[in-house]
Amino acid sequence: GLRMSNVSHEFGSNRVLNDISFDVAPGEIVCLLGPSGCGKTTALRLAAGLEKLQFGQIAIDDQIVAHPGDYVEPEKRGVGMVFQDYALFPHLTVAKNIGFGLKHFSDAQRREAVERALTQVGMSEYLDAYPHELSGGQQQRIALARALAPTPQIMLLDEPFSGLDVARRADLRDTTLHVLKNAGIATIMVTHDPQEAMYMGDRIIVMNEGQVMQDGTPESLYFQPENRFVASFFGEVN
Ligand code: ATP
Repeated sequence: GLRMSNVSHEFGSNRVLNDISFDVAPGEIVCLLGPSGCGKTTALRLAAGLEKLQFGQIAIDDQIVAHPGDYVEPEKRGVGMVFQDYALFPHLTVAKNIGFGLKHFSDAQRREAVERALTQVGMSEYLDAYPHELSGGQQQRIALARALAPTPQIMLLDEPFSGLDVARRADLRDTTLHVLKNAGIATIMVTHDPQEAMYMGDRIIVMNEGQVMQDGTPESLYFQPENRFVASFFGEVN
């Protein structure tokens, strides 16, 4: 699993995360939920190693991967990512897109990993397709397959269903849930949508202005909000 302990972050004089602590166990999906600008993406980028840690500590499977002054590279953290701005390479086939990050694999191992990942997301017949031949939902499945191919212990998802219509969104979120649960991966998913967090999350961490407002199961947040902010956030869900 992954543990963030007392993590804070500043951009210049702007403190965007203020003493955040939480953990995610293997097979568990934790949703970071909150309004735009509350620091969700920054927390995820710190977990990935895409942002340098300033305060606190991050551990993966009890190994410290980041504390101020020490740092494990993103590629060495065993972390898969599906971020909005991590688009597929348009000039590469689906197979090449997924195999791209598997440089240290032999050709046979790479082919096997690519085929397994494509099967996991239900896209095994699209090996030789190019991204422009796929729908938005299919492209997002390929992005998920690419993240799964190296068999990560941790998965980081940033609004992975944004830009999809209602039907495709429902479809992809069921696939994602199923795949992550089956593989026993510890997952952090960023979303601003309470309904999506309730559907996907074993736990939800509600954030506001860089702080954790509440950390609990969907039921506990809905029925026992600890403060007005959480209550009003979930008041909009029916
Ligand atoms: P959204 O849902 O809109 O993506 P978020 O909750 O993910 O929001 P972050 O993207 O983590 O929030 O941003 C938190 C704050 O940090 C915002 O005020 C943002 O403007 C600021 N910020 C983010 N990245 C940078 C950066 N590279 N340089 C300066 N400020 C930044």
